[in-house]
Amino acid sequence: MSEENRSIHEFDFSLICEYFSSVERQGPGSPEVTLKALSFIDSLTNNAKIADIGCGTGGQTMVLAGNAPGEITGIDLFADFIDIFNANSRRLNLQDRVKGVVGSMDKLPFQDEELDLIWSEGAIYNIGFERGLNEWRKFLKKGGYIAVSEASWFTEKRPDEIDQYWNDAYPQIDTVANKVALMQKAGYIPTAAFILPETCWTDHFYTPQVAAQEIFLKKHAGNKTAEDLIKEQRREAELYSRYKDFYGYVFYIGKKFDNA
Ligand code: SAH
Repeated sequence: MSEENRSIHEFDFSLICEYFSSVERQGPGSPEVTLKALSFIDSLTNNAKIADIGCGTGGQTMVLAGNAPGEITGIDLFADFIDIFNANSRRLNLQDRVKGVVGSMDKLPFQDEELDLIWSEGAIYNIGFERGLNEWRKFLKKGGYIAVSEASWFTEKRPDEIDQYWNDAYPQIDTVANKVALMQKAGYIPTAAFILPETCWTDHFYTPQVAAQEIFLKKHAGNKTAEDLIKEQRREAELYSRYKDFYGYVFYIGKKFDNA
């Protein structure tokens, strides 16, 4: 990559970070849904070790921390998100047991069988659902849990426009039944799978972005990259409102199965 391209790329990257740092969540979800997913996990003690992978600025991590015992390590590739994460943790006086570190989900800084729980909301797609379930499994203790949310089809068939959009964006999107089967194949007992309510996309994700978009566009007036970024976010929200009967996010919770 030439110097020039690299600097353009880095600029894009910092604009994306800046935009998503200005909202509480970087993906669909809600405190209620985080708690519902947590309700399926029964084994946590004060010594529990939990990882939140692709934690972003930590909206869901702080909810988790307020309702689960043990230590939580948040991992995200973007240093700006981790700075905000750690500021949130200090603000809530959780810094002794909730820490954010910069890292990548394909090179996690954990020992084999170290973790009681792996959490990941709206982020496993970055490595791919199947690969993430397979590769992260070794970090879990026997009987440990994984809880991830992931874009999924609700129906066998859907209109071409949305089918095409998702197959370009994330070809591994699949039906709930197929995702559950993948979880089982990867060595987990499927404990639960539930669809996130629509408000996780609207009230908690797209609606807060409306004001953030205005501020962002004003600040970066005339910047084509910034305008394109917002155009894309708006298109995504518009597609959701038209096609929400066909897809959404689903929480998948599994327990590491080990018959050895
Ligand atoms: N869990 C948060 C953020 C979801 S957005 C929420 O629900 O609000 C997806 C997150 O994955 C982003 O914060 C992004 O920075 C992070 N991410 C992308 N690729 C990653 C990688 N390879 N390793 C770790 N984090 C990654």
